[in-house]
Amino acid sequence: MNDAACRGLSDVFFPAPAERPQARERREAMAREVCNSCEVQTACKDFARNHHEYGFWGGESEEQRHLAGFHLIAPIGIRANSK
Ligand code: SF4
Repeated sequence: MNDAACRGLSDVFFPAPAERPQARERREAMAREVCNSCEVQTACKDFARNHHEYGFWGGESEEQRHLAGFHLIAPIGIRANSK
């Protein structure tokens, strides 16, 4: 966590209530840029995949993890429909 480039940027990595799809795309693009400059990106991505995390971790959204085979324990919305 000490090496995380996202420290203090929670608003970029977790959605606001009732976030619209276009806002989500913009927010995740900003998060992806931060992740791509982060020196712990691989470890972060592996952790999120293996712990079924929500939010944007290691350059991946929840949906990207889901599509990569790392399913959420309690999927919601489009993720629940794509099983
Ligand atoms: S790779 Fe992980 S630790 Fe690094 S900025 Fe992205 S979410 Fe934060």
